[in-house]
Amino acid sequence: MPILACIGLSIIVYILLLSSIENTKTKQSETIHCSQCNEKIDPAQTKCPSCKEMLKAPCNDCQKMIYTNWRYCPYCGDTKEERG
Ligand SMILES: [Zn+2]
Ligand SMILES: [Zn+2]
Repeated sequence: MPILACIGLSIIVYILLLSSIENTKTKQSETIHCSQCNEKIDPAQTKCPSCKEMLKAPCNDCQKMIYTNWRYCPYCGDTKEERG
């Protein structure tokens, strides 16, 4: 039984465990607030459950869902302001 392989495997398991803990931490702390009524909203929601304000809308260029208060798309860099 190669000892090095054993050590390598346990390191990989350890890293996987750590990253999964980190993921749950960030998921729990990630909440957004409605720009209209300041209601706490789950980031997965696209509309405010309280006032039905649209929080996310598809980007004009790449059609990815982005927050309506963002000034430009982080995926393709398209600005939401009128061009030209
Ligand atoms: Zn709201
Ligand atoms: Zn885009």
